[in-house]
Amino acid sequence: MEHSFSHMQHTDAAHHLHPFSDNGELSRHGTRIISRAKGVYLIDAEGNQLLDGMAGLWCVNIGYGRQELIDAAIRQFHELPYYNSFFQCTTPPAIELAEMISALAPAHMNHVFFTGSGSESNDTVVRMVRHYWASLGYAGKNIIISRHNAYHGSTMAGASLGGMKPMHEQGGLPIPDITHIDQPYWFGEGRDEDPQAFGLRIAQQLEEKIAELGVDRVAAFIAEPIQGAGGVIIPPESYWPEIQRICDANDILLISDEVITGFGRLGHWFGADYFGITPDLMPIAKGLSSGYLPIGGVIVSDRVADVLKNRGGEFNHGYTYSGHPVCAAVAAANLRILKEEKIIEYVRNEIGPYLQAEWSKLGDHPLVGEARGAGMLGALELVASKDPVRLFDDTDAIGRLTRDLAIENGIVMRSVGSKMIISPPLVIRQSEVDELIRKAGATLDAIAARVL
Ligand SMILES: *Cc1c(COP(=O)(O)O)cnc(C)c1O
Repeated sequence: MEHSFSHMQHTDAAHHLHPFSDNGELSRHGTRIISRAKGVYLIDAEGNQLLDGMAGLWCVNIGYGRQELIDAAIRQFHELPYYNSFFQCTTPPAIELAEMISALAPAHMNHVFFTGSGSESNDTVVRMVRHYWASLGYAGKNIIISRHNAYHGSTMAGASLGGMKPMHEQGGLPIPDITHIDQPYWFGEGRDEDPQAFGLRIAQQLEEKIAELGVDRVAAFIAEPIQGAGGVIIPPESYWPEIQRICDANDILLISDEVITGFGRLGHWFGADYFGITPDLMPIAKGLSSGYLPIGGVIVSDRVADVLKNRGGEFNHGYTYSGHPVCAAVAAANLRILKEEKIIEYVRNEIGPYLQAEWSKLGDHPLVGEARGAGMLGALELVASKDPVRLFDDTDAIGRLTRDLAIENGIVMRSVGSKMIISPPLVIRQSEVDELIRKAGATLDAIAARVL
């Protein structure tokens, strides 16, 4: 076992280039090899058990090892492992899934364009939004406004919509006609201001940007309802209603990137439901299949779909795996579980409030400047001093140290700078939340003993 573990690490270092990793450093230190999983627990190749506080990468909403999804995949593999949805074709699972998603989406959204991932969904968004306005005779109305520190995927368009500087620096991004305004990150960028006033002020940057560029140039605004990869950034209550008002008043499309917030993470089917907003487009992925197979899509409002259907002509865009029948069958089985087991209600009424009550207590820790969360998302801001708030000099180093010790203590948390974030499977039980909080607290104690 020991031999095979180090052998696997060696082989990985020799042949596997990892995403979002310093591959030189990774080769020297060795990767963590996850071999099995069940429920909310991972087992690594050395036999250690870890409570997965991140649900994989924000995606394993129903937990690991559900037989229904395995059965759905095997049935569909036998029936039809692949066919495309180009050229006037489709497959039964793609039809069924499009109908299911339309039924779950807000009432004015009744069409789905399928993709293989969240990034592909956001590439689709760029093409679709520009094609929509061009079809109406406004080809110049093509600028998409996004936000600094947003995450919308890692393809050229996805990373351009995103507001991550280190991503833009590699590859000459953003692509033309994408621009960014500030994020509604109160703890990081507005602590001296009243949170609601801050939220309004940041939202109004959208109106200023539209005025600066001209309404005839701006096609859409895109945002995650709650920023995930940026560090679980939850806008003040004043933010979203003002964004909605500005989009409506200026007739620009509103795109709610639901790749994380879709399919129950906030105790509603979509983040748009949680915040009461009416988007025109909603990119989805991750929780759509609980990560069991890669599939994404864009949910499209009737307003946009009508133009695409009646005036758009051929949409010169699509993916070989758009609506892949096995992925679609697995996603449909996942949605059935979310519905039949009332997992959204469980998040909204039981485990979400429980997690938030327990998580917020970590805010009393001397190392924590703020503990925030919503639904099944949480973040801790690690600080060198609470009052007045002072951050660590090397925010990345303290985050990494805390993350690594958390893993030694048996839980997976992620670090974003000095923010520690969680996004556990929605099916996590109270006793498992207790374990997560206890081990997070023990990790904070150990870090505080070293650095405070
Ligand atoms: C993960 C993520 C994406 C990209 O999805 P991939 O499947 O990794 O391409 C896009 N938007 C948001 C909000 C995400 O969290």
